[in-house]
Amino acid sequence: MRYISTRGQAPALSFEEAMLTGLARDGGLYVPETIPTLSRDAIAALHGQSYEETAFTVMRPFIGDTFTDDEFREIIGRAYAGFNHGARAPLVQLAPGHFLLELFHGPTLAFKDFAMQLIGQMFQAALARRGDRVTIVGATSGDTGSAAIEAFRGLANVDVFILYPHGRVSDVQRRQMTTPAEANVHALAVDGDFDDCQARLKDMFNDFVFRDGVRLAGVNSINWGRVLAQVVYYFSAAVSLGAPDREVSFTVPTGNFGDIFAGYIARRMGLPIRDLVVATNQNDILDRCLRGQGYHKTQVHPSISPSMDIQVSSNFERALFDAYGRDGNAVAQLMGELGQGGFDVSQGAMQVLQDTYKSGRASEQETTATIAMARRTMGELLCPHSAVGVKVAEEQRDPAVPMVTLATAHPAKFPDAVEAATGHRPDLPPHMSDLFDRPERFKRIGNDLGALKTHIKENLSV
Ligand SMILES: *Cc1c(COP(=O)(O)O)cnc(C)c1O
Repeated sequence: MRYISTRGQAPALSFEEAMLTGLARDGGLYVPETIPTLSRDAIAALHGQSYEETAFTVMRPFIGDTFTDDEFREIIGRAYAGFNHGARAPLVQLAPGHFLLELFHGPTLAFKDFAMQLIGQMFQAALARRGDRVTIVGATSGDTGSAAIEAFRGLANVDVFILYPHGRVSDVQRRQMTTPAEANVHALAVDGDFDDCQARLKDMFNDFVFRDGVRLAGVNSINWGRVLAQVVYYFSAAVSLGAPDREVSFTVPTGNFGDIFAGYIARRMGLPIRDLVVATNQNDILDRCLRGQGYHKTQVHPSISPSMDIQVSSNFERALFDAYGRDGNAVAQLMGELGQGGFDVSQGAMQVLQDTYKSGRASEQETTATIAMARRTMGELLCPHSAVGVKVAEEQRDPAVPMVTLATAHPAKFPDAVEAATGHRPDLPPHMSDLFDRPERFKRIGNDLGALKTHIKENLSV
């Protein structure tokens, strides 16, 4: 299995190389050259399997000879051992025909643990065999950073530096990043906003001397290994609702388009998914684009679902690549136009996108009203991101096809929004109840590429 870049100019890589690299050197994203499929019988055989067994079957065709079957089973086992629910991704019923897939039972209470815990274990195994080390640098608006630190803390051969905007993440998110005591964890509070953090990260990847010198690796959501890990729960959910004999639809609260793109891969692998619904908050660039209005950046308006406050949806590039018939030159040109503010999608590509994805949006008021309604009539406490999904799903679902909405974070991660909507302040689960008593450790640093590079070079622990 080879991986190719969406911009057509970088060399094709193996799974291992694509995972350890993250971003392609032509600025593109890696995608599999071909999508493997699972037969109806293979999907039917997933009935009654554990999450880990399903994960092995779904991901095995993508990893080539990077790991032996035994190694890969062990990696998967270690990745999900720290989850607080035996099913890992349990389904609960909200209403007749509407289900919630709870993806927040991992160590940092957001769905990003599914991918980050797995790639932490995959990195460790691959680096140990190669006798190599890497420096992981990530930018975060909150959830990616805490999930990455949790996954890589204390692992050999890896340093992890996370850039977060000083004063602009929630207390829970910050403490999840600043309280781990391991020497390979480095939380950097940057004087700037999230876009500044992401821009400095891109600068580091484009500085090939620095990139090669510290063996820079990226684990943000464009890493193919993360997308792959997320394909698994589409299978586990659909199979428990009757696949392959019955179709299922999914609604996905979306920011960087990684999670919903994993659903598209599941469908391409043969899972009978009827609708894939993109749900956005008031930052609705994806909804507008999918309605045929082109992809044009505006300002980010901070919302109560901050992990979806985004204008440059990185993984959308993968969807465009397929919609443009895998024409890397066309994608490179669109991304160039995006640097100038935006682009229009060709008629042919738009048709493909609209045949593949549906979309909807939720305003702030609608999100709050949905949190309140779900508590009242469904007995479920939703985080604001999940509420965006539930609102859009209720609008779009066909009563004849089961709808699964992805619940992307635990309500206790966003207690202010939940309390404002319901009057009820959700408690942190027991394993995190002392979070506010642990000492914090972080480095405050300017929004300055030179200062960041120097700090990283001087603070490597391995
Ligand atoms: C990251 C995140 C999202 C958006 O996921 P994408 O893969 O970026 O579309 C939604 N909800 C929560 C809670 C998140 O942390």
